[in-house]
Amino acid sequence: MKKINCLRCGVPMKHLFNQRIQLGGASWLLPDLNNIMSGYLPVMILVCPKCRKLEFFLLSEKQRNKHE
Ligand SMILES: [Zn+2]
Repeated sequence: MKKINCLRCGVPMKHLFNQRIQLGGASWLLPDLNNIMSGYLPVMILVCPKCRKLEFFLLSEKQRNKHE
């Protein structure tokens, strides 16, 4: 996995965990993706060790299988 630096601090962000975010009625979250996702969004969550900012990245099916 390539390094991702915090946009605020510029320090490398740490991988926290992968999570599936249930979409049931959660149209406030990325509503444009509702029609192509079936029930949940597989995401990778990173945290900045300095300012504790969280970053979410959407995983493809291929990436999700690799990380689980
Ligand atoms: Zn930071």
